Amino acid sequence: MSSTLLSTQGLVARYGDFQALYGIDFEISEGEVVALIGANGAGKSTLLKSIMGLLRVAPEMVRLDGRPVGGSKPNRMVSDGVAIVPEGRRLFTGMSVVDNLRVAIDHAAVPRGTAWTLDRVFELFPILREKQAVPVQSLSGGQQQMVAIGRALLNQPRLLLCDEISLGLAPKVVKEIYRAIPSISANGTAIILVEQDVGLARSASNRLYCMLEGRVSLTGRSQDISREVIGAAYFGGA
Ligand code: ATP
Repeated sequence: MSSTLLSTQGLVARYGDFQALYGIDFEISEGEVVALIGANGAGKSTLLKSIMGLLRVAPEMVRLDGRPVGGSKPNRMVSDGVAIVPEGRRLFTGMSVVDNLRVAIDHAAVPRGTAWTLDRVFELFPILREKQAVPVQSLSGGQQQMVAIGRALLNQPRLLLCDEISLGLAPKVVKEIYRAIPSISANGTAIILVEQDVGLARSASNRLYCMLEGRVSLTGRSQDISREVIGAAYFGGA
């Protein structure tokens, strides 16, 4: 059995007076793929932001290797082995593919056992090798998403947070991107997938959490939960 890598306990998060999360208990083990599903506004991105240190939360609400890390600065989380592929990608436009990737290499923490290199990112997404000198803004949306994932991997994460990496992409491209998920986790990297497409989330993950209005409405092994049960947890009224 692999051990718990990251957990949250009773995690609450607020935007000013607005409470977005109400006591989230969550955990992920080394090399595990966990999907986070739920309707718009359910709190999925807020959970990722709370883990990443982009929102202030109490230290003991987020634990990495059992150590309280809630409220740590994002760059501290990156050096502790947590990286994010943010919603909207946030690439450096005006810079080439390879320069976008090199930024992450320059800022990477001390590489761990299973270090990602430019070459390995190009093996994962061969099109990026061909396009390495091209400015990122001239790539397709899917190719830009590959750069965003590659950049996060070059931070050498033990935990990769992916915020809606399929959003706005054609089904064929989504397939291509999701094909990378098992290769990444086989490397020992745990992955949290925030995903709108429930079918995709279910097939790509070992376990899933469904969120509803700032709470976990369902959790379990992805293959064991029926679509009907997910539907009830997704929309409420179960
Ligand atoms: P989506 O799929 O729309 O991104 P989500 O499940 O990721 O949904 P969150 O973005 O985490 O949901 O939002 C949870 C709640 O927090 C929503 O009610 C949203 O309106 C609110 N919220 C999110 N960001 C902010 C913010 N910067 N300021 C105030 N409220 C916010």
